[in-house]
Amino acid sequence: MEPEMIGNPIELIREQLGHEYAELLVEITRTATLLGFGIFIVGGTVRDLILKRDLKDIDLSVTGDAILLVDEVSKSLDVDIVRYRKFRTATIKTGRIEIDVVSARSEVYPNSGALPEVKLGDIHDDLKRRDFTINAMAISINEPYHLVDSEDGRSDLNAGTVRVLHNRSFTDDPTRLFRMFRYASRFDFDIDENTYIAAKSAISKQCLATISKERLTNEVLLMLEEPHVDNAFRYFIEFDVLGLPVSGNEKISIEHTNLEFKWIALLSMYSEDCYEQFCSMFSLDRKNTNMIKDYIDLCSLIKTNDLLAVDRTNISATYFLLKQVPRPVMDAYVACHPNQLNVNMLMDYMMYTDQVKINLDPIGLINLGVDRHHISDVMDILMIGALTGKIASRSDEEKAVVQYVNEHKI
Ligand code: ATP
Repeated sequence: MEPEMIGNPIELIREQLGHEYAELLVEITRTATLLGFGIFIVGGTVRDLILKRDLKDIDLSVTGDAILLVDEVSKSLDVDIVRYRKFRTATIKTGRIEIDVVSARSEVYPNSGALPEVKLGDIHDDLKRRDFTINAMAISINEPYHLVDSEDGRSDLNAGTVRVLHNRSFTDDPTRLFRMFRYASRFDFDIDENTYIAAKSAISKQCLATISKERLTNEVLLMLEEPHVDNAFRYFIEFDVLGLPVSGNEKISIEHTNLEFKWIALLSMYSEDCYEQFCSMFSLDRKNTNMIKDYIDLCSLIKTNDLLAVDRTNISATYFLLKQVPRPVMDAYVACHPNQLNVNMLMDYMMYTDQVKINLDPIGLINLGVDRHHISDVMDILMIGALTGKIASRSDEEKAVVQYVNEHKI
């Protein structure tokens, strides 16, 4: 096949990222040419250039040793370089954009989920080791500029299809499942039929058991950061990635929420009975772990103590049930829990408590003679008084506090 000619890629980079990055590429290319290396823009960078989307980084592949190239580049350019000698790759760090340089290579996976055996190769080898056809294109940046598209990524990009390069792709590297969900949801692309079957088959053969908790967590985190995370979630459930019973929860819309919320939204896609199992599959930081734990506690609290439709006469029971629950956890329950009846009751309760404001603070209570060990009890009395309408002002609060102090004098 005749190589497809393409406009000057350096100029495309200049348009997208500005003069500085274009000139950097000119210098890297000049050095690669002197070393006799072919040099290509590859992977997601080609995909995003063709789609005219913002570039997050620049991926380069050289037919030669990437470490040798960056060593030479560092002689003429003042840039930070991180070298990964074992993998013959390097990252040039400059400003907001990183330039990843890999030595073109072939990869063979000895067994599922293991690290691949790597051999230096040409650009076609390098494209063959990639995840999807849309990420397996290269543009030569030493002249003549041309598109290398041996896996037919351009057609898939035009058609809006995510397609693996071969059927063993997901068993070789199960993290590609998550990458597939990310691309399909980000670009609103379809998943090719054979790719779909290959993914289902790899999941049913427990391919995810071959990757560590940390890698699984990292992949899910990347998925949660996607702009169209709701769609990515749907694939996650549709493909039965975790093999857990689902809750059938369809109400979730979490695109604009924070990370802790998103984890809870994902959790609430599953049946409450398997929440602990869900947590055991991931390696989360303390903030997320605490939030999820509080959410699970709230779910079981509500499950074992039916929530009441609150009004002024009975609100104290619900107050004592929920007073330890942090507000963001209640917000998460309202946003994510599939039991709409309980959600409505909790919302009513939150509405009541939102209307109430206690004027006295702990220092004010101590000044009125409250022992510091009793502050929390007195705050409860004030809250209940306010929620039931018996306390309506600061002076009502002070009267209640004085009465409490008198009753509790030794
Ligand atoms: P994103 O916009 O999500 O960062 P990207 O395509 O730039 O997308 P990277 O993770 O930066 O993704 O990877 C760069 C390129 O390396 C990909 O486009 C793909 O060609 C290749 N690649 C990355 N991860 C894998 C993988 N697990 N298997 C095969 N190829 C991969």
